[in-house]
Amino acid sequence: MSLHPESEKPDLRAYPLARLTQELARMGEKPYRARQIFRWLHRHGAASFEEMTDLPLALRAALADRFELRTLAMAEEHRSSDGTIKWKWRTVDGRFIESVYMPHTGGDDDGDGDEPQSRERRTLCVSSQVGCAIGCTFCMTGTMGLARNLGPGEIADQVHRANRRLVELGEGHAPRPLTNLVFMGMGVPLHNFESLKLALELLLHEDGPNFSHRHVTVSTSGLVPQIRRLGAETQVKLAVSLNATTDSLRDQLMPVNRRFALADLLQACRAFPMKQGRRITFEYVLLRGVNDADADAARLADMLRGIPAKVNLIPYNENPGLGFGAPDPARASAFLDVLVARNVTAVVRRNRGGDIAAACGQLAAEGGPGDPRRRRRDASSDPVSPAPSAN
Ligand code: SAH
Ligand code: SF4
Repeated sequence: MSLHPESEKPDLRAYPLARLTQELARMGEKPYRARQIFRWLHRHGAASFEEMTDLPLALRAALADRFELRTLAMAEEHRSSDGTIKWKWRTVDGRFIESVYMPHTGGDDDGDGDEPQSRERRTLCVSSQVGCAIGCTFCMTGTMGLARNLGPGEIADQVHRANRRLVELGEGHAPRPLTNLVFMGMGVPLHNFESLKLALELLLHEDGPNFSHRHVTVSTSGLVPQIRRLGAETQVKLAVSLNATTDSLRDQLMPVNRRFALADLLQACRAFPMKQGRRITFEYVLLRGVNDADADAARLADMLRGIPAKVNLIPYNENPGLGFGAPDPARASAFLDVLVARNVTAVVRRNRGGDIAAACGQLAAEGGPGDPRRRRRDASSDPVSPAPSAN
């Protein structure tokens, strides 16, 4: 298994502005050049050094000599009738990852309720790893195993490629049609913490796409120490994939629970620094006959008492061969009623992009190293040990 991209040159898109400034100084260049390049990369989403037309040719050549840009290439684009677009990107070392675009008006996709209902939102669901090592038994990505982490430049580049493509498609204005980011694509962002943190620095930078931390949500399956780090080292919002209300069921559905049990996870949520009015989103996939009874809903409400929370109920998107079923709609709404009766803010999330397999947990790249048919062949033996970095 190759854990590193073959190329030896560092990805210039992975460098925060301060580091870029140092590198340019070492090349005998003035600091303003670093900002100019950073803006090309992260505000305008330049795909290559050649695009940086206001840089002297000699500087472009010197950059290309020392660095590369691990720009993602669009391998596939699937457009759903509901406006959702799924992109499959090819990395420079021939891996495949996916991002999903979801336009909204009103509603609340990240589920914390702090968005004006009228605001038009264009959200990108971003991947953080090629595959996933956690291996949740209901999740298509989980069947892939982890091929490698994405580097910070590759994480950010999904956003840049999507912005550029959306401008081409007439969806929103250059340079940044996207308004919100959710790190809920392939992989566990907190399992690739250093790259995630650097990518956030790039994406929230005022000389880059300048996203507000209020509009960025990072999802986790429950890596407790990294939840603490996320709270201490960033200001973005937290979503937790809960999916079960007892350790015995969660152990079966999400192997990460054997390492970090529910009580520890909820404790980390209680301790998560919360800005005024913020809430933690709890994602709960409804699996028919497994976790969708009224008693589960009642336990869920009890568990969340005292945590500023919002529950996103996600009716299961069926993946052939994994052995789980979607709840019937009446069951989903009865589950919701139990939560609401107990004063829990909750919604049943509308399924998006179902006709293009872009819905939650359906992200898997066929034919590539992430092909689910390769089932865990590449998986690391310890599902929660830090994965090797791409850089
Ligand atoms: N790895 C991260 C983010 C990606 S999964 C995490 O686990 O939080 C995003 C969400 O999709 C999770 O809440 C997960 O429980 C849910 N999910 C996975 N497979 C699903 C499926 N087939 N149908 C519906 N939701 C699913
Ligand atoms: Fe990985 Fe999230 Fe899927 Fe679990 S639900 S296997 S953590 S991507």
